[in-house]
Amino acid sequence: MKDKQELVLEDYLDTTELLNGYTHEEIGDDHLYTGVETPMKPDAFDISDSEKKEQIAELFAQIMNVMGLDLTDDSLKGTPKRVAKMYIEEIFSGLDPKNKPKVALFDNKYQYNQMLVEKDITFYSNCEHHFVPIIGKAHVAYISSGKVIGLSKLNRIVQYFAKRPQVQERLTNQIALELQSILETEDVAVIIDAKHLCVSSRGIKDDTSATVTSFYGGQFNSPEKIQELYNYINN
Ligand SMILES: [Zn+2]
Repeated sequence: MKDKQELVLEDYLDTTELLNGYTHEEIGDDHLYTGVETPMKPDAFDISDSEKKEQIAELFAQIMNVMGLDLTDDSLKGTPKRVAKMYIEEIFSGLDPKNKPKVALFDNKYQYNQMLVEKDITFYSNCEHHFVPIIGKAHVAYISSGKVIGLSKLNRIVQYFAKRPQVQERLTNQIALELQSILETEDVAVIIDAKHLCVSSRGIKDDTSATVTSFYGGQFNSPEKIQELYNYINN
């Protein structure tokens, strides 16, 4: 059995370094987006999923314990293991490339050369700054370069990237770049309309606002195509 994943506490609790010239205090609840790749450690997959679940369960039990919860209570007893299993197998399963959907390409037999829009794909993600849910809809579109993929795959790709600690801008770009690469075309658009529970249930407590992000690649980068896309989405 390998050693526990080492955490240098001083390093990750040190928030004195400036981010884009701002202190962590000034940034506060505002969400910074630092890049399109999910920041992962090089040794992220050195330990197995079952070891990860074991360690998370132990650590989560500690959090509950520190908060003063009685872990011997029948209702709480199973929580650390349940949370660990849920993190690794469900809500954060998209961190592991082995869970990436396998996508087969087909020839565009119908010679359909207009935009194809898959709209209202419901997804559940989690904000990486607060670890509370982001709930939203993704609309994805592409224009075939001669290849097409099964419609359910568009949905699966959205779900894969949603199942990570996320910021909405990165989620949008990760889905778009993946589709561009699979479909071998620049002509991909992604629009995400989502509610962040860290905004609605805490902090500023705004229950009605939503965040919209978009990516328009290739041919989609024109006012006409964007208008056409919105006509489909709003129908
Ligand atoms: Zn947040």
